[in-house]
Amino acid sequence: MAIGRAVKNHKVGEMVGVTWINSACGKCEFCKKGMENLCENMKFTGYDENGGYAEYIVVADDYAFKIPKGFDEAHASPLFCAGIIGYRAFKLSAVKKGDKLAMFGFGGSAHIIIQVARYLGIETLVFTRDEKHQKEAKSLGAAWVGKPDSKPPYLFDSAIIFAPDGRLVPYALKNLKRGGNVTIADIYMSRIPELDYGLLYEERSVKSVANYTRGDAREFLDLAAKIPIKTQIREFTLEETNNAMLLLKQSKIGGSAVIRVGR
Ligand SMILES: [Zn+2]
Repeated sequence: MAIGRAVKNHKVGEMVGVTWINSACGKCEFCKKGMENLCENMKFTGYDENGGYAEYIVVADDYAFKIPKGFDEAHASPLFCAGIIGYRAFKLSAVKKGDKLAMFGFGGSAHIIIQVARYLGIETLVFTRDEKHQKEAKSLGAAWVGKPDSKPPYLFDSAIIFAPDGRLVPYALKNLKRGGNVTIADIYMSRIPELDYGLLYEERSVKSVANYTRGDAREFLDLAAKIPIKTQIREFTLEETNNAMLLLKQSKIGGSAVIRVGR
């Protein structure tokens, strides 16, 4: 076992996590402005660089993050994808202590972010059609749960949409306070239906989330240890990956699916 000569942040034998971002260039206009999450030359793990489903991976010092205290590798895994992107969405939603945050969809990411919200004194309303997910949301401290098109008891300050369904955007806007925002935490989303301008008027906004900065990742992983976040996982072997994907699609996994590669 060895580390490269330029490695400063890690020691031999330390447990680290690598995310889907293998590197940002540090040179493009976005990197220079501190918006490395929007880097034009970003390299993705398992897409541009090998190692996504492998026993070994090469990654720059600064793109490997220490596994937070109190986590084993399997329970830490969801933090490194669902957790970090959810946290970026949470930050963009700009909610503060005492605010009300709506969450649409209750998969792996929302399971984690509801715990962050609760820790920071933010009230959550969870919209999901799946009754099992509604129960999970309640048990994790949601103040109210309902179906995506139900009318909540009060308006909320911000919303995060986790499910990749464009129809949720007008549902979220309908119950959003003036000046509030809807953040979409998805890479893909089905078509957003035509909107009445009245839903957006009064300075409401809709935005998407792309990737994260290393600062976001460090901040979130520190918080994960402090809270401490409990991740719900179901483990699969590499050979069972197709089945895991199918179960995820059918909403049959509470929390996150974790693929164990190697031992
Ligand atoms: Zn760049």
